[in-house]
Amino acid sequence: MTSLSAVNNTLYDTLTAKLPPMLAKSLARAPSLPSLPAVALEVLEVARSPDASLQDYASVIEHDPALTARLIGAANSAHHLNAAGSACTGLEATQRLGTDATIATVLSFTLLKDIEANETAVPIWQRAIAAAAIASQLAQKLCPDRLGYVFTVALLQDIGVLALQMTFPAQAQALYERHDQSHMQLAQNERHHFGCDHTLVGAWIAARWGLPESLVHAINESHDSVFTDDNVAVCVRLSGPLADAWLSANPARAFSTLLYELSVSNTEHVVILEALFYAMHRQIALLSDLLKLAIPLPLDSVEVLTEAKQLLYQHALVLGARLQAQQETLEALESRHGQLLERSRIDPLTGLANRAWLEEQLHEHFARCRLEKRAMTVVFIDLDHFKALNDEHGHGTGDEVLQCFGQALSSLVRATDVAGRYGGEEFLIILPDETAESARQLAQRIMTLLDREPMARSEFGPLYISVSIGIACLEDGMFASEHELIAAADQSMYHIKRSGRSGVAVYGH
Ligand code: GH3
Ligand code: MG
Ligand code: MG
Repeated sequence: MTSLSAVNNTLYDTLTAKLPPMLAKSLARAPSLPSLPAVALEVLEVARSPDASLQDYASVIEHDPALTARLIGAANSAHHLNAAGSACTGLEATQRLGTDATIATVLSFTLLKDIEANETAVPIWQRAIAAAAIASQLAQKLCPDRLGYVFTVALLQDIGVLALQMTFPAQAQALYERHDQSHMQLAQNERHHFGCDHTLVGAWIAARWGLPESLVHAINESHDSVFTDDNVAVCVRLSGPLADAWLSANPARAFSTLLYELSVSNTEHVVILEALFYAMHRQIALLSDLLKLAIPLPLDSVEVLTEAKQLLYQHALVLGARLQAQQETLEALESRHGQLLERSRIDPLTGLANRAWLEEQLHEHFARCRLEKRAMTVVFIDLDHFKALNDEHGHGTGDEVLQCFGQALSSLVRATDVAGRYGGEEFLIILPDETAESARQLAQRIMTLLDREPMARSEFGPLYISVSIGIACLEDGMFASEHELIAAADQSMYHIKRSGRSGVAVYGH
């Protein structure tokens, strides 16, 4: 390190503190960390000066003939050929490239020279270069004014991997030679082995080199979600997964998976990615040529994209079918739940509401009608001499009578009323919004029906029954609860029992 004085020491110290202590010590002592050659450090020095001119860049760069040649090559590449004529000098090249792209080219070239000898580093660099190419393509669409910056971040996003490889060669060998793992799995394994992943190590190196603070943060956050409004971050964070897809054994499948994940939330990005994929081949060829590093897989991007879209379509179909099956299961469950609920509310013999459901409904109606000062009446019905009927005709016939009486009640009440079996041969009807008078009319209709219709047939002929009915109306007493209202109706009913049965009595009337 030649110029730590110019480095943002606060940021460097913060990141050092974030590294696991053992890792920080080893990294700081490692003799072979990726280092920036003097010329790159000088370029960065110029970049830090607020009033640096392009001439200042050119003067530094022109000390290194190979670098100058590379910079001129970059400036004359198809990527920057919008100006007439070609660049012949370092100054012309920097003028054409602008400061961001100049820095990007200087960094990538000088770093590569250092790393080319390191065999295990090659796949990392291939990913870095593919990512940088992709990121700058994306930036052309999403944030053209930040193209050089995006390129640099994408190129350096995995610099931490190189640092870890060089500092811990033996462990790194085992960790990085597994080519079947995804980049996210790799990061997870790094966290497992080293206590942090390469994004933090990369940011730490970038801070140590004195790279701009925003760049340091961008490296640190390069694995964060792509679903952000920050277009620069989108370009960088998408570049890695896209590069992985491009370099994978089955690019179409990898790309379709990625498209699928992205299309869930953002179709705009998918459209951009499609266009990007078409342009990728040319871009990567250009870059690998520029950086003198062979990228494998001369892919036909049109073919890959077509296949990827087909896979995506199949994926959507399978998913659609799965969704449909799940929907059907859900509906079956809901219907079963409904059936169970229904069963828990219904008295099986009569098909009317059971005691539990009656009590729940009573409670609700009582509370609501009292609060809203609305009328409410309950009708309590007890079959007369039912024990004798059972004794005389058998329990089966008794059941038949209960069943038939239940149907009779159902036919006489309205949909808003609740009729139920309160106990053995006791029935209850809740009449919300009804007064004693209409309840009395209903009771009368029940009595008339029972006079007219037999409730069962026995060997001796039709069986007619009578009932004793007690009515209680909310407005006719100071009822504190629904239980008191029922007790009042029951009391009226017993009044009828005592006075000879078969009749109707209204509480308080
Ligand atoms: P009262 O006129 O005073 O009401 O006399 P009752 O015989 O109707 O009243 P009691 O309460 O003495 O007897 C009710 C009978 O109803 C006794 C019981 O066996 C019968 N019972 C209760 N549940 C059922 C049922 O589900 N099926 C049949 N068949 N009988 C039942
Ligand atoms: Mg009884
Ligand atoms: Mg009875």
